[in-house]
Amino acid sequence: MKVNANAWENLSIPQALRAAAICARANLALLPSPSLNELVSDFSLSTYTGGLVATNGHFLTCGETRLLIDAPDGVFDWLAAKGETPDAILLTHQHFDHVEDAHRFDCPIHAFSPMDRDLILDARAREWGLPVKVEDFKVGKILKEEPTLTIGQLELQLIHVPGHSPDSLVYHLPALATAFAGDTLFCGGVGRTDLPGGSHETLISGIREKLLTLPPQTTFYPGHGPSTTAADEQENPFL
Ligand SMILES: [Zn+2]
Repeated sequence: MKVNANAWENLSIPQALRAAAICARANLALLPSPSLNELVSDFSLSTYTGGLVATNGHFLTCGETRLLIDAPDGVFDWLAAKGETPDAILLTHQHFDHVEDAHRFDCPIHAFSPMDRDLILDARAREWGLPVKVEDFKVGKILKEEPTLTIGQLELQLIHVPGHSPDSLVYHLPALATAFAGDTLFCGGVGRTDLPGGSHETLISGIREKLLTLPPQTTFYPGHGPSTTAADEQENPFL
């Protein structure tokens, strides 16, 4: 059996993992490259959902590399119970529900901007009656000017998609056909744009031009709710 490189690229991650397992059993050479095969077969993703507004924290492992995407309330204890610690945290944006546990981690935190209470909006949340308390945390690496980021074996494209929040970054891993969308694009929805710094037009054009143009098999893991794909979101009624 031969695995065609183009066919491989059209597989979703679960399909690709199954294909990798089948080919490994058959002791066949895998295409299109050994490094990609290693990446795909080593990749795992688990998602924690918690905090006041059911925010996702995605924990990605690939070989020796461990990344946490966002730090909602409770994700530190969830990882500790698994005996896991991330090498780095990548913030999709700083809204309070995505950063409540950030101060509990010792690892570097990467984000579009330095920590900024005008982005966190915790005071605004308390005005709404939400019992939110965000401790200071330090953003060790500012990604505002960075088009890409390499951590361990993983190469990430950094896609700035403001409109929900001015600092919204989508982390795209092309080799894994995976993107962490934060609160830009949801399964059948888009992020709210009525918060400070929001813009509906900016968000919609950013999603159309920068996210829906990614390969159709790209799976988006959002900050709330289930995953979706670039192909499925072509039918998104908000776009
Ligand atoms: Zn948000």
